[in-house]
Amino acid sequence: MDLYEYQAKELFASHGVPTLPGAVVTEPQGAKAAAAELGGPVVIKAQVKTGGRGKAGGVKLAETPDEAETKAEGILGLDIKGHVTRKVLVTTASDIADEYYFSFLLDRANRNFLAMASVEGGMEIEEVAATKPEALAKIAIDPIQGVDKAKAEEIVAAAKFPAEVADQVADVIVQLWDTFVAEDATLVEVNPLVKDPQGKIIALDGKVTLDENAAFRQEKQAELVDKDAENPLEAKAKAKGLNYVKLDGEVGIIGNGAGLVMSTLDVVAYAGENHNGVKPANFLDIGGGASAEVMAAGLDVILGDPAVKSVFVNVFGGITACDAVANGIVQALQILGDEATKPLVVRLDGNNVEEGRRILAEANHPVVTVVDTMDGAADKAAELAAGA
Ligand code: GDP
Ligand code: MN
Repeated sequence: MDLYEYQAKELFASHGVPTLPGAVVTEPQGAKAAAAELGGPVVIKAQVKTGGRGKAGGVKLAETPDEAETKAEGILGLDIKGHVTRKVLVTTASDIADEYYFSFLLDRANRNFLAMASVEGGMEIEEVAATKPEALAKIAIDPIQGVDKAKAEEIVAAAKFPAEVADQVADVIVQLWDTFVAEDATLVEVNPLVKDPQGKIIALDGKVTLDENAAFRQEKQAELVDKDAENPLEAKAKAKGLNYVKLDGEVGIIGNGAGLVMSTLDVVAYAGENHNGVKPANFLDIGGGASAEVMAAGLDVILGDPAVKSVFVNVFGGITACDAVANGIVQALQILGDEATKPLVVRLDGNNVEEGRRILAEANHPVVTVVDTMDGAADKAAELAAGA
């Protein structure tokens, strides 16, 4: 999960990283009040989960509370790379003597962590990496040893930070490592990390990505989820404990087990090539048990997606046998009633398959087509989606 800048900087502050005070507001009047409260010049910053806000006009200086209100009015509603600005951060403005770059990230390719640092901050780091690769120091971090002051000093030396800020920057690097580890982050980035005219080091921007796999031991982080920005179907699926990912095609897919669902995606995409190029509309794994409630919840999520034209239910009966799954489907359709309007292609195989097919045949529901093979069912679902 990516955080907003203001959330990232709140986490930084809680781990001792120097930041400037600020307030998040959703209305121009709120920006005026926040600027008056902070006193002195402020910066109004669009809170959107994308970079390059400065260039896009999403970061503006305001000398007075009235100016803060006008600038906030201009930024609220601004579309930055497809992200509409709903909140702005009003924060004390800092004069800048120098701008640096720093990040810790999960280095998947090397199965390690990596520190990246540069005294060429402020501009996009991809640009520094492309045009002046020697100006970007990359230091591997041993996950067991982590980052102590000595390691931080090594990073500072490799990036050639000026002597007068070396000690402060090393301290900030240790604090950022504490943030990275304690919060279970996969990215902590500060661009720019600035030196103000008094020589103080401050994190002026912040980007943090949290590892959702660690959510079980990071209960406090649930508060950081932006409910308004969440896809409503994804939120609904999450609330019901379903593993759902929205894709951009037309065939809704329900399966039990991630492996089966992934291969179903491939088979549907392949079948779609013969049917107007229709594609999978989602990934929905109902897991091991396929009770009526779980099946109804899964169908409810998928049928709620207007892009879905047909649904492919692909279940392999194991511990939960096919007859239980078939009963689940029949009852789920009863629960959904008139809402089950889209064609449903069902393929069952595995434990107790004959009984499962018999139950579906007997129910003879008008939207259900039973196909015995996975390829055949994928073809039927793609055909129905293309024809709809
Ligand atoms: P980004 O463009 O999305 O990365 O947003 P940043 O938070 O990095 O802001 C963009 C640029 O605005 C920074 O690189 C700074 O040069 C400038 N900026 C941001 N905050 C301040 C501030 O408090 N004072 C000054 N003078 N400039 C700022
Ligand atoms: Mn930035």
